Order: sequence, then structure tokens, then C-alpha cells
Amino acid sequence: MIVLGIESSCDETGVAVVETGAQPVPVLRAHALHSQVEMHQAYGGVVPELASRDHIRRVLPLAGQVLADSGCALADVDVVAYTRGPGLAGALLVGAGVACALGAALAKPVLGVHHLEGHLLSPFLSQDPPEFPFVALLVSGGHTQLMQVDGVGRYTLLGETIDDAAGEAFDKSAKLLGLGYPGGPALSRLAEQGDPAAFKLPRPLLHSGDLDFSFAGLKTAVLTQVHKLGAELQARKADLAASTEAAIVEVLVKKSLAALDRSGLQRLVVAGGVGANRRLRAQLDAACAKRGVRVHYPELALCTDNGAMIALAAAMRLQAGVQQPSDSYAFDVKPRWPLDLTAIA
Ligand code: ATP
Ligand code: MG
Ligand code: FE
Repeated sequence: MIVLGIESSCDETGVAVVETGAQPVPVLRAHALHSQVEMHQAYGGVVPELASRDHIRRVLPLAGQVLADSGCALADVDVVAYTRGPGLAGALLVGAGVACALGAALAKPVLGVHHLEGHLLSPFLSQDPPEFPFVALLVSGGHTQLMQVDGVGRYTLLGETIDDAAGEAFDKSAKLLGLGYPGGPALSRLAEQGDPAAFKLPRPLLHSGDLDFSFAGLKTAVLTQVHKLGAELQARKADLAASTEAAIVEVLVKKSLAALDRSGLQRLVVAGGVGANRRLRAQLDAACAKRGVRVHYPELALCTDNGAMIALAAAMRLQAGVQQPSDSYAFDVKPRWPLDLTAIA
């Protein structure tokens, strides 16, 4: 079975082709991505209307390129998958509209996918794919969640952020340090030259006894340090970046270990953009090695938004028999859509 997947929930247009067959995990035949980051940079954040218009411009040329790269013809596609939510309504409507139009034109069924399920399953495309069950740490620009994953479509939320997401904490702190948008990767690069113990920053909810997170206070603490430093900021920027990263990573690691303890599981899967962070990977690897816990990550290129994870999630849902594709071509999108046991049945 050949699945064409389209991602357009935010500021990345992604298209991919995956194939299911004899192998237990679907195989990625080709994928392509257009990032709008440069277009939004001037505004310091994503401008929804510009995002929608750019998805419209990019999606069909990308689909043509991916089909050519995969060696498939349009007529070979068995199912067209798209991101149904969560995300920006206008941006989601572009992917949903194009997917349903393609499905109708080809007389092939379509399937709407949950964006976070895409992130969550993306490590299955890595060299070292996980096995169910596992604890998932989902750390993206909009979400920070710990989940118990018992199988495809079997997700139990263990804890989540009560305010900002981890990626948001990276981006907002980076902005305060003048590192542009989205500043997570830049902050992380600068942090490599700094001292992570230079500034004492809060570790919110570290000892709360539950598996929830809070990152809004950290951003305020960074702002306070920026004001205190004044003209000295330039010389201390790497130290402040390193201290910020250390605070975020310490909370993510400790809570992940607590989730493993609570669930009794011996496998951790990390997903979402912050999963690309080197300090997070190093500290999780070290802590989990000590406990005999296996950790799995997505390939670096598949940590942030992409079409491959959407095609993969659709293929895995179909393979597991948890969802049937639709041939009605009527579509709606879900800008807000929790990922748990009931929401995506
Ligand atoms: P969501 O999936 O919750 O809707 P999103 O799609 O915007 O949000 P992703 O694309 O998964 O999120 O991830 C983007 C986030 O990852 C940004 O906040 C970005 O700063 C962060 N990020 C990417 N690389 C790194 C890194 N190396 N270190 C820290 N943060 C990073
Ligand atoms: Mg993005
Ligand atoms: Fe995402």
C-alpha cells in the first residue's frame, strides 16, 4: 500500500510517500519539506495568513517532486493522508483541501491524522525503531507531554505543561537574548560555549510529585537576569544560554525518569523539535543507560514538522486496523485537538 502524506499545520509544508508491505514498519520512499521560517522571521513569529498562502503555493510542486523521487505515479497512491489538527485553522485547511481533492480526483480514500501522533510515531522511521509499549516524551513548539503508549492509537496522558511548552521556553528565552526566531537551535548552539552552572535559574515543578511541567516562570527569570546584566549581557550571553538550556533539560529528564518509574516501563521514546537538542539527548542517554532503559529518537531531520511522520502515522493506523480511510471527501479540521485514548478513536 502506498500512502501520500501532507503536513501543513503550521509553518512547514511537508509531503511524503511511505509504503507498507512485508516489513513490520512502513518504509519511507521519499519526502520533501519547505520551511517558511525565513518568511516569518521579520515578524518574530508565525503570521497565520501568510502561512496559509505559502502552503497553497508549495504543496502541489512538493507533491510532484516527492512522487518523482519515490518512483511512484499519482495513480499508484492508495490513500491520501493529511494533518487534521491541531494547528492553525487556515494552514490545516490547505492540506485537508488538497488531500481531499486529490483523493476525489483519483477515487482513492483519504485519512486525517493527528499531528502529535505523527511526532510520537516518527522514531519508527529511525535506524533503531522502538517497540510498544513505551513512555513518550513529546517536546515540541506547542506541546510538552509525557504519555504511556501501548500501541497505535493507545495513548494515555501522564502529564503535560500547565503553561508554556519546552520549545516555547527555548524560543522565548532565545528572543530575550536577541537570538532571533525560532531561537531554540541558536540558543542551543550558543549554550555549547557557556557554563550551565553560571546562573541559578528555577526548575519549575521539579519536586511537584506529579508529571506536569511549567516553563512560564523560567522565561521571567531569564528576563530578570537580562535586566540585571545590562551592558554585561553580551559577555555573559553564552553562560545565560547554557544555564537556561540546563534548567529546561534537567526538568525534562527528571520527569521522564519519574514517568518510567511510575509506569514500570523500560523504554523511552523522545519526539518533537526539542528532541533534536544535544544536551537533552546526552543527559537522557546517560540517565537511561544507568537504569537499563532503552531510548529512541527520531532522525534529526524528522524531529521538527515534516510530511514523513504524517504518512507514517496514517500507514500505521491502517496497518493496525484502528482507523479506516474515508471516501466521503468531506473534511473538517481540528485546530484544537487533544491526543488521548478517546479523541482519535
Ligand atoms: P506542535 O508540534 O506542538 O504543534 P511545532 O510543530 O511548532 O509544535 P516542532 O516543529 O515539533 O513544533 O518543534 C519546533 C520547536 O523545537 C521550536 O520551539 C524549536 O525552537 C525547537 N527546537 C528545534 N531544535 C531544537 C534544539 N536543537 N534545541 C532546542 N529546541 C529546539
Ligand atoms: Mg515549525
Ligand atoms: Fe509539530
